[in-house]
Amino acid sequence: MRLRGDAVTAPKLQVALYWGAACGGCDVAVLDTNEFILDVAAAADIRLWPIAVDGKYHDVEAMADGELDLTIFNGAVRNSENEHIAKLLRQKSKLMVAFGSCAHLGGIPGLANLASRDEIMEAAYLHNPSIEPGNTTIPHPETAFNGSPLTIPQFYKRVYKLDDVIDVDYYLPGCPPAADQVKAVLTAVVAGELPPKGSVVGASERAVCDDCERTKHEKKVKRFYRPWQIMADPDSCLLEQGILCAGPATRSGCGVRCPSSGIPCRGCYGPLPNVRDQGAKLLSAVVSIIDSKDPEEIEQIVDGLPDFTSFAYRFSLPSSLLQRSVRP
Ligand code: SF4
Ligand code: SF4
Repeated sequence: MRLRGDAVTAPKLQVALYWGAACGGCDVAVLDTNEFILDVAAAADIRLWPIAVDGKYHDVEAMADGELDLTIFNGAVRNSENEHIAKLLRQKSKLMVAFGSCAHLGGIPGLANLASRDEIMEAAYLHNPSIEPGNTTIPHPETAFNGSPLTIPQFYKRVYKLDDVIDVDYYLPGCPPAADQVKAVLTAVVAGELPPKGSVVGASERAVCDDCERTKHEKKVKRFYRPWQIMADPDSCLLEQGILCAGPATRSGCGVRCPSSGIPCRGCYGPLPNVRDQGAKLLSAVVSIIDSKDPEEIEQIVDGLPDFTSFAYRFSLPSSLLQRSVRP
């Protein structure tokens, strides 16, 4: 189904795209749909898209509730501005889509939940090599300037996924979502052919491993490697060669982009259906391939897992059972 044909007869969709705590890759993923984006432009009025369209927050505030048909929200919620705009767009939108890993699960910004707010501020503003030595300035939400208060968004203690702060209708996973998935979902919105509310759309119910064409030999491993430490067999399962791959614990739908390019899956499509904690599922898969029954040797092999927490929860820490580390 093409969007352009629908645009002739149907009224234009009113659409907003927004980014919270994100890298910008999700916006690039929308542009990666190439000429399809012209079909979207023909079928929709884009009312807000900070990367491309000069809409202002007060334009959104002036809209009637529900005036937008669709908001595509990428990025996590890290500060009070992210939360405020998420709530505003929810109020103005009939459909809210959490687009990409950060909105869906917390994403890479969610790994900041392993550190406290103070540790992050000190690393960024006091001990960063690009900061002038001796600098003691840390941003504060409110500063007096010429007798008037100047405010910036409040930096929260932790990162939240989008549905921690607003009701979300659909989730489109991926870091970023694959262009074909983006097209399919936008086409479904235009055609009004959406699955039940709360669905993860544009993805599969299977694991990345189920779709991966690398051969599994049911081999166990004596040590783990970073990808650059080993010349991997190009046709065999990476995990069975000791390279951490999140394929067993990750929802498929991306076209097995990484393992088919020689890179292990990092888990960006999130947990499998009915799996509560992607990292715990991955831990269970990884320990099951350790080739030892000797506790001391197992400990040595596990010690060789490079930064396993960050690997296992790379995209999903704020949505995991752990959510964040707790500091005194
Ligand atoms: S663990 Fe990785 S490389 Fe192995 S089959 Fe699964 S997705 Fe493919
Ligand atoms: S293979 Fe894994 S990390 Fe790569 S795009 Fe697919 S789900 Fe994401």
